[in-house]
Amino acid sequence: MDLNSIYSEIIMEHNASHHNKRHIEGADVVEQGHNPSCGDEIELELKINDNIIEDAAFTGVGCAISQASTSIMIDLIKGKTVDEAKHIIETFLGMIKRKITDEKQLEILEDALALKNISNMPARVKCAVLAWHTLDQSLNKHNP
Ligand SMILES: [Zn+2]
Repeated sequence: MDLNSIYSEIIMEHNASHHNKRHIEGADVVEQGHNPSCGDEIELELKINDNIIEDAAFTGVGCAISQASTSIMIDLIKGKTVDEAKHIIETFLGMIKRKITDEKQLEILEDALALKNISNMPARVKCAVLAWHTLDQSLNKHNP
C-alpha cells in the first residue's frame, strides 16, 4: 500500500468514526466555525484546566475532509498545553500553505500529515483548515 492510500484511509476512518463527536459537560469554550464555500459547519467544545486541554469534542456537518480534519485535530491536541496546541496549529497551517516543508518539523502533526496533499487542491483547503482556525479562535478566547 502506498503512502497516499494510507493517508486517504486515515481520512476515511476519521470521517466514519464518531468517537470525537459528542458534547462536553461544562465545556470552558464553545466556538463555531463555518466554511460557506462548501457548507461545512462545526462546533468545537473544549475543557481547559490549568492551561491543559483536558478534553475536546465537536458536533457538526460537512464534507469528509472537514469532519476528518476536525477529528484528527482533536485526537492530536487532547492532553496538550495551550502553547503546544498553538504550535501544532501553526505547523499545520504552515504545512497547508507549504511554508513548512521540513519533515522533522512536521512530525508533530502525526495523523494530520494525512491532510498534506490538500494543499494541491485549493478548493478543499478551506475545508481542511476550518477546525484549526476554530481551535485558534477558541484558545485566544480562553486566554486572550
Ligand atoms: Zn468541505
